[in-house]
Amino acid sequence: MTSPVWHPFTQHGLNEPIPLVERAEGAALYTADGRRVVDAISSWWVTTHGHAHPRIMAAITDQAARMDQIIFAGWTHQPAEDLARGLTAIMPPELTRVFYSDSGSTSVEVALKMALGYWANRGEARHRILVTQHSYHGDTIGAMSVGERGVFNQPYGPLLFDVGTLPFPAAGAEQATLDALEAACREAPAAFIVEPLLLGAGGMLIYPPRVLAEMAAICARHDVLFIADEVMTGWGRTGTLLACEQAGVVPDLLCLSKGLTGGSLPLAVTMAREAIYDAHLSQDRARMFFHSSSYTANPIACAAANANLAIWRDEPVLERIAALAERQAARLSALKGVRNPRQIGTVTAMEIADDQGRYLSDRGPRLLAFFRDRDLLLRPLGNTVYVMPPYCIDDADLDRIYSAIAEACAIQADPN
Ligand SMILES: *Cc1c(COP(=O)(O)O)cnc(C)c1O
Repeated sequence: MTSPVWHPFTQHGLNEPIPLVERAEGAALYTADGRRVVDAISSWWVTTHGHAHPRIMAAITDQAARMDQIIFAGWTHQPAEDLARGLTAIMPPELTRVFYSDSGSTSVEVALKMALGYWANRGEARHRILVTQHSYHGDTIGAMSVGERGVFNQPYGPLLFDVGTLPFPAAGAEQATLDALEAACREAPAAFIVEPLLLGAGGMLIYPPRVLAEMAAICARHDVLFIADEVMTGWGRTGTLLACEQAGVVPDLLCLSKGLTGGSLPLAVTMAREAIYDAHLSQDRARMFFHSSSYTANPIACAAANANLAIWRDEPVLERIAALAERQAARLSALKGVRNPRQIGTVTAMEIADDQGRYLSDRGPRLLAFFRDRDLLLRPLGNTVYVMPPYCIDDADLDRIYSAIAEACAIQADPN
């Protein structure tokens, strides 16, 4: 009998193989049929230090022995208290408040609701959200609304709310984006949500820190809340703890998830400036922030995140990241026959065919199978191949990834 599992982003009608993974460690997945697969995309961008980091695993075991889950409305627990203090200590000091949820999507929903609540509680009717073209913020209705419209969300289109979309700040066209933002800000929108420096699902598109800084400055000038979705870029992926750091930008609201627990358990936070918290602070219950999910601040997930923070504190994580960036750069520059090779921090990306491969063209799935046959977890976005490995990956595994990409390029160039 076929499995009853309905997998995410999977067309079961194509009957593509779905490997059974039994164990994960470092940069490797071990399958039931005895293969060792190199995880070149950090299991969809979550794993930072490596799978099954001993300190994170130990923290989970330890916490699981004490307390599983408690209500978080009106109650608290030490792992959540410690984590909030730990986060406010390492994130920009202006971000004084920490709100817990469970995924990147919910951290975005929370940020949007906080922005709207801020304006509502101040008695100003500001609802419009500005976004950039090609952005991705998650798959719930609100998060889809602020993301790129396309085949992914067409069936739900009528439910998605209207947003103002700015062109992506492509090289040479940055000013057009900034001008569009300036014009849109004059109409008093509630907030602008961005993926700082690197748009992930939109195709691993990179733009420079000075554009991010200018975007934040325009928003500040017009009193438009600036939301940084660092769900993917956070925790060192772009070379710094936050991508915003490279632009000297402190957002009004910051979304973190994926690497928050080192990629071990689902957890997210939305961090807010005091003014946004203040706008909800009152003797009047009607002005509270109306949001919760059942597993808000799950103690075991918080313990895993506290262990992640301890690793950042005690281990040379940034040095490791800088070294990985260099090792990635050396391999990327040696690759021949790729279009638009690009890199930010630990992430490289390139196109390996000369057409405009779309997500649903068969090139992506063919590449996926090609890499799967070589025991590599690489998941191209259309014809965009990207490498986003856990920071612990060794040279031999990196070499395997890049020689497979080179082989794929050679086949594209000469399909016979
Ligand atoms: C992955 C991602 C999300 C959604 O996170 P989930 O945990 O999958 O809900 C939101 N924003 C960005 C930038 C992401 O990369």
